[in-house]
Amino acid sequence: MRLLIENEVLPFVRKPGRYLGNEWNSVRKTWNAAQVRMVFAFPDVYEIGMSHLGLQILYGLVNQHPQYLMERVFAPGVDLEELLRTKGIPLFSLESCRPLKDFDVVGFTLQYELSFTNILNMLDLAGIPLQSRNREASDPLVIAGGPGAFNPEPLADFIDLFLIGDSEESLPELLSRLQALKQEGANRQQVIFQMAQISGVYAPSLYQPVYAPDGRLQETAPDLEGIPGRVAKRLVKDLDEAYFPLRPIVPTVEVVHDRIMLEVLRGCTRGCRFCQAGTIYRPVRERSQKVLLNQAMQVYWATGHEEISLTSLSTADYSCVQPLTTKLLDLFQEHRVGISLPSLRVDAFSVDLAQEIQRVRRSGLTFAPEAGTQRLRDMINKGVTEEDLFNAAKKAFRAGWHSIKLYFMIGLPMEQNEDLDGIVSLAYRVLAIGRRIKRETNQKKSPSVTISVSSFVPKAHTPFQWAAQDAIAELKRKQHYLKSRLKDRGIEVKWHQSETSFLEGVFARGDRRLGRVLEIAWNKGCKFDSWQEHFKFETWMESFAEAGIDPHYYTRMIPLDEVLPWDHIDSGVSKRYLIKEYQAALELVHTGDCRFDKCPGCGVCFELNVDVILKGGTGDAPSPNRIR
Ligand code: SF4
Repeated sequence: MRLLIENEVLPFVRKPGRYLGNEWNSVRKTWNAAQVRMVFAFPDVYEIGMSHLGLQILYGLVNQHPQYLMERVFAPGVDLEELLRTKGIPLFSLESCRPLKDFDVVGFTLQYELSFTNILNMLDLAGIPLQSRNREASDPLVIAGGPGAFNPEPLADFIDLFLIGDSEESLPELLSRLQALKQEGANRQQVIFQMAQISGVYAPSLYQPVYAPDGRLQETAPDLEGIPGRVAKRLVKDLDEAYFPLRPIVPTVEVVHDRIMLEVLRGCTRGCRFCQAGTIYRPVRERSQKVLLNQAMQVYWATGHEEISLTSLSTADYSCVQPLTTKLLDLFQEHRVGISLPSLRVDAFSVDLAQEIQRVRRSGLTFAPEAGTQRLRDMINKGVTEEDLFNAAKKAFRAGWHSIKLYFMIGLPMEQNEDLDGIVSLAYRVLAIGRRIKRETNQKKSPSVTISVSSFVPKAHTPFQWAAQDAIAELKRKQHYLKSRLKDRGIEVKWHQSETSFLEGVFARGDRRLGRVLEIAWNKGCKFDSWQEHFKFETWMESFAEAGIDPHYYTRMIPLDEVLPWDHIDSGVSKRYLIKEYQAALELVHTGDCRFDKCPGCGVCFELNVDVILKGGTGDAPSPNRIR
């Protein structure tokens, strides 16, 4: 197979390096020596997939086990797909060029709803039946994890098992159980039944949704004894103890994030009410500085990367971010390795930090006030004031940055035109600050402000999971409103296509009935839906019509007492807390961050017997600041 791929396929595709699989630190294990063989399937192209830390973690974790093997596959580019279909070659793994069908497990990561059709496409190219119920003993188990698994229902027809939460915890257990079941000669149904008893594993075929005559969901319940009614997420309790890849694969073609990724913490308890990551990754668990410094040095020597990115949902919140960055700078100065922060808080402290690590101010700085007025920022619990933004902007322009990017969301609940005017006003006032500082400091380069406007998409497991999503026409009106008022050569406005936000919203709160739409749309040629050049909105609408499904049903406001398609998936955060937060939003009441304040009772620590762990500063002790 390798010869066939290397001689008859790769010479004829663009970017063949995407499919070679012989990168530095990639692992090639002896096929016959492995007891369980898994392929990690990323439903987008190599450049995006290889920037994903989760892939590197699971790849290293599984391959360190002497009896398991993990290889990789990415969504093939359109040119490779065409060749594979013409020549009748099945989709193959990178490392051994084996057809995916030869593996015991094909594991997808669900990072984004608009990658779902790529999953169907990859299964089809691999010759694996799309529908879970049509698979036979010789077919691999098809599993999926990642944030998308927290509302698994739209993919329930296609995925045998979902891993809910941190897969480092559940995947080794799943592979070990599979190894034993293979030896026992268990059939497919027995395997799925046994797997569904592992904590954090959801087997959709063992749960049946029941709908009322008006189409509303009444329940999703297991139909066999011994299967849990709700599947609780798994979670790594102590990041210092968790596996971290010290020899990550070094990509051979340019990828989106080509650098060392140091995960300084997991989770965020700032409590932004629209943010799914802020709920599903709770609570905050930090890695100690000692472990991070050691990891940084080891990964550097194993890869030769020239940049270290401190990754997390909010790195400036790491309890000892300043000493950590100083130590990293000192440690890596002689190697000329830079440090970067992927996200900044809207405050002067973050600018100080960026100033310290970014000695050459080449790139712009990005802040996310999210909403244009204090009322709306209070509603989403953003905890950021105009003063915070202006102070951060002043500091940045004075420190030599010329360009500032501001992220906003439109379509938030309770949004009015005055909130859009607020975005306009903030943009002009930040630009005015930049121009004033340019005059005062005799700088040559003119300041610029980029306004990036995304559309609010209500997500499962958030306080806004019941909120309505703006219709496409309304989003377009708001975009036009902003564009017509932001006319200055110093301001650039960017936004997301409202049709893709609409589709994302449908699948984010979708139920099992959407599986049929997915299959129809894929059959009609939909794939790479998050890529503007491939997105076929009309085809999607035809597919909904053909399936007899109104997509607007999924973007409506949902009554608080309605059963939700993801109610049987337990993020650890209670529904009672989410309702309380939704009501607090409508009353503009702020909820504090449990790292520094009283525990507002989201429930995850009690439910999953875990604690907020802040150990950036001292090394080991949980935060003394948090009061239960
Ligand atoms: S239970 Fe309390 S302390 Fe734990 S994450 Fe939730 S709000 Fe924070």
